[in-house]
Amino acid sequence: MNLIRHHIAAQQTAIAERTGTVFDPATGTAQHEVAFATPAEVDAAVAAAKATLPGWRATGLVRRADVFFRLRQLLVERQDELAAIITSEHGKVLSDARGEISRGIENVEFAAGLLHLLKGERAEQVARGVDVHSTKQPVGVVAAITPFNFPVMVPLWMTASAIACGNTVVLKPSEKDPSAALFLAGLYEEAGLPAGVLNVVQGDRVAVDALLDAPDVRAISFVGSTPIARSIYERASAAGKRVQALGGAKNHMVVMPDADLDGAADAAVSAAYGSAGERCMAVSVLVAVGDQVADALVSRIAARTTRLVIGPGTDPASEMGPLISAAHRDKVAAYVAGAAAEGATVVVDGTARRFDGEGFFTGVSLIDHVHPGMKVYDEEIFGPVLAVVRVQSYDEAVDLINRNPFGNGTAIFTRDGGTARSFEYDIEIGMVGVNVPIPVPVGAFSFGGWRDSLFGDAHIYGPESVHFYTRSKVTTTRWPDHTSSQVDLGFPSNH
Ligand code: NAD
Repeated sequence: MNLIRHHIAAQQTAIAERTGTVFDPATGTAQHEVAFATPAEVDAAVAAAKATLPGWRATGLVRRADVFFRLRQLLVERQDELAAIITSEHGKVLSDARGEISRGIENVEFAAGLLHLLKGERAEQVARGVDVHSTKQPVGVVAAITPFNFPVMVPLWMTASAIACGNTVVLKPSEKDPSAALFLAGLYEEAGLPAGVLNVVQGDRVAVDALLDAPDVRAISFVGSTPIARSIYERASAAGKRVQALGGAKNHMVVMPDADLDGAADAAVSAAYGSAGERCMAVSVLVAVGDQVADALVSRIAARTTRLVIGPGTDPASEMGPLISAAHRDKVAAYVAGAAAEGATVVVDGTARRFDGEGFFTGVSLIDHVHPGMKVYDEEIFGPVLAVVRVQSYDEAVDLINRNPFGNGTAIFTRDGGTARSFEYDIEIGMVGVNVPIPVPVGAFSFGGWRDSLFGDAHIYGPESVHFYTRSKVTTTRWPDHTSSQVDLGFPSNH
């Protein structure tokens, strides 16, 4: 079986003392082995990144920008190849894989504007003959630790800005779909990035722990589930590193009585079941305001679920592929079974649906009369399961969402501008959609949730990433005409 290795200083290497299996989720068959990095291999990757840092930092900004212009072109030209890699290891349908590449390209386009992003500020004559200016300097070696569900987009969220800002990177992709990161590293180097600026280590917790403990790693960008995000934030920040750790989600979509109910049903089906619900911005809770709205939506959504085409991601007819693993499929089934046991109404039970072959497929599920306290509401399922919570008023909807521990995304469907404006003002969530079910910000803005969906201060990609991946330095300058000696022990005053 093919062994997937690390990419350190542009060399593919691996001791492969321990390995994992990479499956094809559509067939359930093992297709590759992936090497799990030892702490020594992680140290070698960090050392490669550290060794390249002075040269990359010294590279002129226009030359740096060239890499991103070329990378963008390569990503466009090679997107079908890259999408095929994503689909073969993740399982999502090819159109969705191309979608994540196109969203990742936005981050590359943003990074190509690095000349603007890295401009500092200057104030002349703050006191007589004294000028002040600020500069943004790279933090150093950055570790990027990414989840399985976006094997191209999330690595691009991190690497594009980090590298543009003059840092060097060690990327640790998910061990479940590790090949895309290697392909990406190859494209970066084809675009002109020097060897050692972007290194990839494969592996599991052992590799992550080694990155967290490496003294030369100065900043950690993490995206994954909430318990791991929280522990990474605590451990790395205690070690004095800069950390942003994005976690899981429970995204609520509110439907007001005045909404276009057919449009809302289409949006709910697309946002709940797209990519088999394995998106951190998937809608997992539909909040129907009023029983009439709830009844109308449940029947419309149930009807739409019967028409969804579930099959291998490589089949152009498929709208939804398999889940990432057999274990995850069983976990999703347990949530649906548990919801029935807890008194919710399982309107559509996709877990009962049988598929030919050994692939990790499941059908889509719709569960009505869900409320807080039920596991299906309280926990992130990360599968094609939509829970419906019935509330009687707008205020009740807002209160429900603001009390949820997660705070990634939310959306409201309404025709009323005043209600939409109030929602935007009242809701304590990082990303808000108005008649937009998956409000992932375009690359010129930053992405991030509140509460248990993000540990750390900085949101990811966009302007906040420039802040995260740089340290600011302020220089106060006087070029004195030194004609007379003057000693002053007082605190420097500009007055
Ligand atoms: P995960 O937390 O299991 O893994 C994420 C990364 O952490 C992987 O690289 C994995 O190898 C590593 N890891 C796993 N266990 C670890 C441990 N005990 N110690 C240290 N590192 C460990 O997440 P996943 O299953 O790959 O991805 C799905 C999760 O990611 C979902 O919860 C989803 O909501 C979340 N996610 C969040 C966002 C966001 O932007 N907030 C985006 C995508 C995914």
